[in-house]
Amino acid sequence: MKYRNFPMVPRVVFGHGSFLQLGEILMPKRKSSEAPFIFFIDDVFEGQPLITEVPLLFNDQIIFISSEEEPKTAQVDVLVAKIKESFTEMPSGIVGIGGGTLLDVAKAVAIMLTNPGSAAEYQGWDLVKKPAIYHVGIPTISGTGAEVSRTTVLMGPEKKLGINSDHTPFDQVLLDPKLTHGVPKEQWFYTGMDCYIHCIESLNGTYLNAFSQSYGEKALDLCHEVYLGDISKEESRDKLMMASWHGGMSIAYSQVGIAHAMSYGLSYLLGVKHGIGNCLVFQYLEEFYPEGVKVFKQMQEKHQIKLPTGICAGLSEEQFDIMIQVSFGLVPLWENALGDNWKEIMTYDRLLQLFKKI
Ligand code: NAD
Ligand code: ZN
Repeated sequence: MKYRNFPMVPRVVFGHGSFLQLGEILMPKRKSSEAPFIFFIDDVFEGQPLITEVPLLFNDQIIFISSEEEPKTAQVDVLVAKIKESFTEMPSGIVGIGGGTLLDVAKAVAIMLTNPGSAAEYQGWDLVKKPAIYHVGIPTISGTGAEVSRTTVLMGPEKKLGINSDHTPFDQVLLDPKLTHGVPKEQWFYTGMDCYIHCIESLNGTYLNAFSQSYGEKALDLCHEVYLGDISKEESRDKLMMASWHGGMSIAYSQVGIAHAMSYGLSYLLGVKHGIGNCLVFQYLEEFYPEGVKVFKQMQEKHQIKLPTGICAGLSEEQFDIMIQVSFGLVPLWENALGDNWKEIMTYDRLLQLFKKI
């Protein structure tokens, strides 16, 4: 047995208002006055007070990015070309401020500034050869675990797949729960449930080991407190941020499962976003995750979240087939969920019936 040797985020700050320390954190990383920091920021913050707190110096630049759609390889290529064209020197670093979408854009651009070709060439496992430039992740919504993960999930011309590499994780993460203040309730639920589903899929998977279990159980406890407990808003924001971190750590050394495999299919064909896509699928997975789905429904009920229906109504046979192929392509997820003989358990028709419910 050969065990994987994973990188982790080497530096992290946690605390209410810690965003104000960003300037002093970046200062020693500035290479010269010609080498800027590029801040990718979710455009929901455009014109908001947060922008005045971004520690701009010299020729630093803010680039607002919409998270309406999940990040694409072509988008990353354009951003990289634009940065190379605009500055004479390589940037001192990239800072991503936002949800999973912005964190993934920041990671991918940091990698592609030092590696030749298109981002699409690096979708897969361990294809990145050269270290990325210094990159910092600052989540403003909690749940994906993208702040700790070794991947940046991108939609490419052929597939939705992460750039999984030792060079992907952030060099620095700043966790300031205050930044999650304005998240709308529905989005808070969907992205938070991404974390909850990471825990359920990791803890009920065949890849489980003590490393993953220790993080997964902690994250699950925190999710229960946040979504079913009776705690203050402030405490809830702190705890969900740490749940996301632990949930991400839990899947680092195991895998996700059926909800993620199917949600990738929904996202590929219909552009359904990750958090809501996971919820749409997970509600129908009680045969596989009975306790997890029961508690999910309690959380949904408590927060009066109504999921959309009829997402797959009216799809053609071919369209269902595309989703099924994308989903079945994620072999490690199925192996983790159902074991080596997963193909006998999850037949084409069974998966089709599940998609038809959504
Ligand atoms: P997101 O980044 O797509 O943002 C969701 C919505 O919340 C957007 O409308 C955004 O503008 C809004 N928002 C974010 N912060 C806000 C704030 N403080 N106030 C008000 N609105 C705010 O959402 P997400 O669920 O965090 O990320 C989903 C993405 O993450 C997907 O692209 C998915 O593929 C990716 N992902 C990556 C990993 C990884 O390990 N790299 C893991 C899971 C998911
Ligand atoms: Zn996820």
